[in-house]
Amino acid sequence: MKMDWKNLGFGITKTDYNVRCWYRDGKWGELEVSSSQEISIHMGATCLHYGQESFEGLKAYRGKDNRIRLFRYDENAKRMARSAKGIMLAEVPKPLFQEAIRKAVKLNEKYVPPHGLGASLYIRPLLIGTGPEVGVKPSKEYLFMVFVMPVGPYFKEGFKPVDIMITRDHDRAAPLGTGHLKVGGNYAASLTSVAKAHKNGYATALYLDAKEKRYIDECGPANFFGIKNNTYITPDSQSILPSITNMSLQEIAISMGMKVEKRAVPLAELNEFEETGACGTAAVITPIKKIYDPDENRTYTFGDGKDPGPVTTKLYEELVGIQYGDREDKYGWITVME
Ligand SMILES: *Cc1c(COP(=O)(O)O)cnc(C)c1O
Repeated sequence: MKMDWKNLGFGITKTDYNVRCWYRDGKWGELEVSSSQEISIHMGATCLHYGQESFEGLKAYRGKDNRIRLFRYDENAKRMARSAKGIMLAEVPKPLFQEAIRKAVKLNEKYVPPHGLGASLYIRPLLIGTGPEVGVKPSKEYLFMVFVMPVGPYFKEGFKPVDIMITRDHDRAAPLGTGHLKVGGNYAASLTSVAKAHKNGYATALYLDAKEKRYIDECGPANFFGIKNNTYITPDSQSILPSITNMSLQEIAISMGMKVEKRAVPLAELNEFEETGACGTAAVITPIKKIYDPDENRTYTFGDGKDPGPVTTKLYEELVGIQYGDREDKYGWITVME
């Protein structure tokens, strides 16, 4: 096996093994290891018809010491349990979730990219209802899987600001819907507006609150934050997905001596931000230099409209430094693999 580590994109690459666990007769079975990328399920499975599925996304990072690090994977376990409750999937117990992650990474150790390239091993846990039902009801059987693949930096150009576009003609989630859960249905609902943003030359869509269209919700697959007056400001909304990256950046901001505000962020406040960004596991932070509002036909510009701002850069460097083991993890976020 010869991997071209420097030219990894963000796509599916085959690795050697994945792990699976079935939930049947009201209980979870043993973790199984498979070398097949395929699954065989009934065509009536509830995941296929009624969207009974939840997923997670996290990464394993190789340090200078060659050891492999996992970042806050207990938080992914908790979040998948919340998603499971929210759409009535069988809940994966935290010890099972964490064992599955460690096993999938360990079995594919040689695919964890070397330190220093901004590459990592992307880990995708997936939980689906596999029992056949034709009436709308939760499945009695579930399959939990973890598969992994090496990925490069999310954006080939690296840590460079992007332009994004506000969307008002579609919502990804309803105020009391499933926006706070990591479930596929939200992504299906976001495809048209993200495609429209791409078609118009923007990196992604920015959603407003579904009810009043007055407040900022989140970007397609990433949370939003703005910086002003030494304060990190991020929307508090029932329909956004609580990002682990965002939670971590808030703690880092506090320890850098900044204030943190998690509250409703009115659209008009875009005029006041010195810097803005989108955050999530895939890209960590995507700095935003311009936000276009097609309905008001105006563009908000941040910083010099060219380079990432100083605060965004500091936050990014600290978090990435902790993930790769280059900076001290004073928060206890890292699990070094045995
Ligand atoms: C996964 C996800 C994020 C980012 O969450 P992280 O835990 O930081 O990776 C943000 N928004 C949505 C809608 C997501 O699904």
